[in-house]
Formats: sequence, structure tokens, C-alpha cells
Amino acid sequence: KPQNSVLSSNSTPNTTITKEYDYNHSVCIFQTDEDGNPIQLNKEVLERILLDDRVADKRVVVISVAGAYRKGKSFLLNFFLRYLRCHAHSKTNKEVTDWLTSEQTLDGFSWRGGSERDTTGILIWSEPFIIKDRKGDDVVVLLMDTQGAFDSTSTVKECTTIFALSTMLSSVQIFNLSQNIQENDLQHLQTFASYAKYAREKEVEARSGFSPQEHYKPFQSLWFVIRDWSFPYEYEYGFQGGKKLLEKRLEISEGQHSELRQLREELKESFENTSCFLMPYPGEKVATSEYFRGHLKDIKPDFQSNVRILVEQLLDSRNLVVKSISGQPITCRMLIKYFQEYITIFRD
Ligand code: GDP
Ligand code: MG
Repeated sequence: KPQNSVLSSNSTPNTTITKEYDYNHSVCIFQTDEDGNPIQLNKEVLERILLDDRVADKRVVVISVAGAYRKGKSFLLNFFLRYLRCHAHSKTNKEVTDWLTSEQTLDGFSWRGGSERDTTGILIWSEPFIIKDRKGDDVVVLLMDTQGAFDSTSTVKECTTIFALSTMLSSVQIFNLSQNIQENDLQHLQTFASYAKYAREKEVEARSGFSPQEHYKPFQSLWFVIRDWSFPYEYEYGFQGGKKLLEKRLEISEGQHSELRQLREELKESFENTSCFLMPYPGEKVATSEYFRGHLKDIKPDFQSNVRILVEQLLDSRNLVVKSISGQPITCRMLIKYFQEYITIFRD
């Protein structure tokens, strides 16, 4: 089996809890058992990462990628990682333009070919990256990977838990889809979002004694990323084409079945903003070769230039979306509390 790096994603929760807390790993912070029930939160590791003096009281941006398995989620996250490493580690304040050059190979979150799945759960990158927001203030960026959602062997509950939790905990949820946005992708999304919304209301109720009547939408940004888009003549690659496709898919029209309409209205109510990006095919080597090890020269230039646009837009200081709950910006320290509370709700 090709396996490009030795990361924690395939190990059992026991080994990840005690061992990995240095800065160059993904750590599994949450897993479900075979029935989809949440297992203990990996609190020790989470605290080690988020209560570090350098980050604890800074506002946090949480970027999550979710969707079906083996569709390149972890692979995509490693481009975010590369950008963040360059920016957070750069000694000078000037813009880093060469974060993606062809001598490099991609590493980070475990990604691999083949049809076997990894464990089901949520992982975060052990390094929280400190970068500047539009005002020049520090913010912390946390990368979150999910595994197992929509897997044929996962139960519905398992998928729903992972997707809902990652939506609740992130400020940007990237919904990674292959080839197109289908009606059942939207239906899944609605299921997850309504479950997440319900869980969040329960949390607020438990904390304050009444259910929230908020003018804030429950979740922040939702980005659809469509992989292997093959109709660029219809809708062009990138944000422009994506916007047109998404508008088309989320259109509410006369004579539409009431279920379809309700689904669209609910999705619009759930997220503060949505966008969509159409990605080209990365080439045979990435898609099918068992020997592909992440060399950028093996990835089609078209994919590289588009992934550059996507990443630079997502992580541009002007666009960073700080995690906020009911309008209140969240720091790393506060995030731990929410992790705990949300997971408790899912366990009940
Ligand atoms: P995940 O399970 O969604 O995290 O998927 P991975 O990131 O582990 O990638 C699964 C396989 O898909 C790997 O062999 C990747 O090389 C390949 N892959 C990554 N991105 C793409 C893409 O955009 N299109 C295609 N066709 N394959 C991809
Ligand atoms: Mg993965």
C-alpha cells in the first residue's frame, strides 16, 4: 500500500493521545467508535496545542475540509500547510510569493491512493500558525482534516457526527466534492447542517437556560471545492465558474418542488456566506499512480495554478475568517471549551 508519510491518522487513539505533540504531525483529536458514537476527546493533546502561551489568547481561524473519502481532502490541505509554513515561518514581513515551487514535494496530512479507508475522526495539524490579519494583528490558523464521512462502511450517524462537529468547530468549512454538485450532496449537507444547528441550540440552552433567538446565522463560511471539474467550457475553473455553478444549483424557482426549495432556503439560512471553486483534474500521476509521492512536477500545471489561486484567496490576510460564536470572536483557549461542550452533546 502506498503511504507517503508516517502520521498518526492510522494509529489507535491510545498511541496518539500520549505520543504526538511536537510540531510536525497531524493529531487525531476526536474519533468515533464503529457505531458512530463519539469516543473521548483527546483533550491532553488539544490543550498542549491551544494553551501554548504564544497562541492561547489570540483569535483563531479554523479551516476544515470534509466530504467523501479518497477525494483528495488531505492532499488539498497540504497545500494550505505549505502556504502557512512559508508565511508563519518567514522572517521578513514581505509577501511570500514562492510558497509553491516545483522542486518541492508535498507532505503533511496523510494522503494516499487505494480504496481502504483510514480511521473515522477529526484531525488537526499540531502546529498552530500565527499570521497577520488585515489590520496587522496576529491570528492563529488551525487546520482540520476529517476522515470517514460518507464512507460506504460508515454508518449515517458516523458521517453526520463528523461533518456536524467539524462544521460547528470551524470558521471555514470546505465541502470537497468530486466532479459536480449533485442534489444528494446538498441533501447530505442539509442533514449535517440541521443536526449541527440542533446540537448548537442545545449547547446554548444548556449554558444559558433558554434557546437562542439570534440574528446570527449558526455557521460562518461554506466553500464548495469541486475536484476534477470537466466542463470548463460551460463554467470556467476557479471562483467565477464556481459562483455561477453554485447559483444555478441553489436557485429557488417557481414551480420547484417544495422539498427542493426548503433545502435551498435552509442552506442559505445556515451559513453566513457560501462560495464555490472549480478545480481542474490534477493529472494521471496524482489520480492513479501508486508511485506518486507528492512531487509537484508530477502535478499538472493547470491544477497548480488553480490551487495557488484557491489557497491565496482563502488565506489572504484580508479574507481570514476568525471563528466566532453568536458574534463573539473565539480565542484558542475558548475553543477548547467548545470542543468539550459540543462533544458532550453528541455523546448524549
Ligand atoms: P481523502 O481521503 O479525501 O483525504 O483523499 P486523499 O487526500 O488521501 O487522496 C486520495 C487519492 O486521491 C490520492 O491518491 C491522491 O493522489 C488523489 N487525489 C488528490 N487530489 C485529487 C484530485 O483533485 N483529483 C483526483 N482524481 N485525485 C486526487
Ligand atoms: Mg484524508
